[in-house]
Amino acid sequence: MRVLVTGGLGFIGSHTVVELLEENNEVIIVDNLYNSKIEVLEKLERISGKSIKFYQYDLLDKEKLDSIFAENNIDSVIHFAGYKAVGESVREPLMYYTNNLISTLNLLEVMKKYDVRKIVFSSSATVYGEQETPKYVETMKRGETASPYGTTKAMIEKMLEDLYASDNSWNITILRYFNPVGAHQSGLIGEEPNGIPNNLMPYVMKVAAGKLEQLSIFGNDYPTPDGTGVRDYIHVVDLAKGHVKALQNSPDGLNVYNLGSGKGVSVLELVTTFEKVNELKVNYKIVDRRPGDLPEYYADPTKALKEIDWKTEKTLEDICKDTWNYQKNNI
Ligand code: NAD
Ligand code: UDP
Repeated sequence: MRVLVTGGLGFIGSHTVVELLEENNEVIIVDNLYNSKIEVLEKLERISGKSIKFYQYDLLDKEKLDSIFAENNIDSVIHFAGYKAVGESVREPLMYYTNNLISTLNLLEVMKKYDVRKIVFSSSATVYGEQETPKYVETMKRGETASPYGTTKAMIEKMLEDLYASDNSWNITILRYFNPVGAHQSGLIGEEPNGIPNNLMPYVMKVAAGKLEQLSIFGNDYPTPDGTGVRDYIHVVDLAKGHVKALQNSPDGLNVYNLGSGKGVSVLELVTTFEKVNELKVNYKIVDRRPGDLPEYYADPTKALKEIDWKTEKTLEDICKDTWNYQKNNI
């Protein structure tokens, strides 16, 4: 299959490109390098031993996007491109609505023009909002989103539903990711957030590397086994494989899948596992809860196993080992 990967030099996109090439797909990447580096392209070619066609275009530029479809006989699209920082989206909502929504509209319009009707979209567990039970199942309704970022994901899901309702020749797969972490075993590609990280794993990685002094654990008085927040951490290579499975196995129509391990892990459990497998110390202190954080949530991943034959294979230990391996290679 010839697959266009938008945002293919980013964290999840780059790992997915590796897995797509592994399965003998042809890959074309479009990325404007807003949150990624061109060196990743060369690393992807090194890992895969294959050459990859790359366009440094912005999806907001519809004419340029059109030219990619005119030049290549594309079969399907995996759409990662977008802004993803929750806090920034609260401060700059217009920037988030413009980039995430207009990019997607441009993409869908151009796909329609060229009769490419198969798309896999990166959504997020955040669309569940605050539900009564933390084990999220796809049959639950989308809830109230907690940030403009989350709202863009919910709005795009709705847009895709409306598109499918208007024309059921589309094949649309919505993947709701839980907490993507880890890095490729090669240590060549991984997550490289700009500035001080907001997310737990990149912060832990920087503290372990001595680049940041101390991790602040946001609250130890939640109604969870050790009082710290619980999430479903998923190795990015497992997540990447989920996209390949979705392309290969998604039934006709519009389908939604949770991509998570199904297992909740607390902040303290993650920190102590990171220390143990890598034989190092991570300095931390307990501070107040972070506003807006939910105590715990994790996926029910049963549907993805049943319908697209996907489940996580990597452990929390693998996640911690591969994250540290990447950081050591990139100090
Ligand atoms: P990332 O920022 O590493 O990758 C996104 C890529 O898209 C970047 O390389 C960026 O340069 C590119 N991009 C952004 N806007 C663009 C535009 N207008 N035109 C062309 N390229 C553009 O993010 P990621 O962690 O790999 O996430 C990929 C997708 O998955 C995003 O849509 C994100 O919202 C979603 N997602 C991520 C997480 C997570 O925790 N990382 C969780 C749930 C969902
Ligand atoms: N967290 C923390 N310290 C940090 C960053 C995060 O204690 O510096 C906690 C946070 O409260 C949550 C978990 O780690 O319980 C995962 O947070 P992250 O921001 O990585 O993901 P999300 O909140 O989007 O699930």
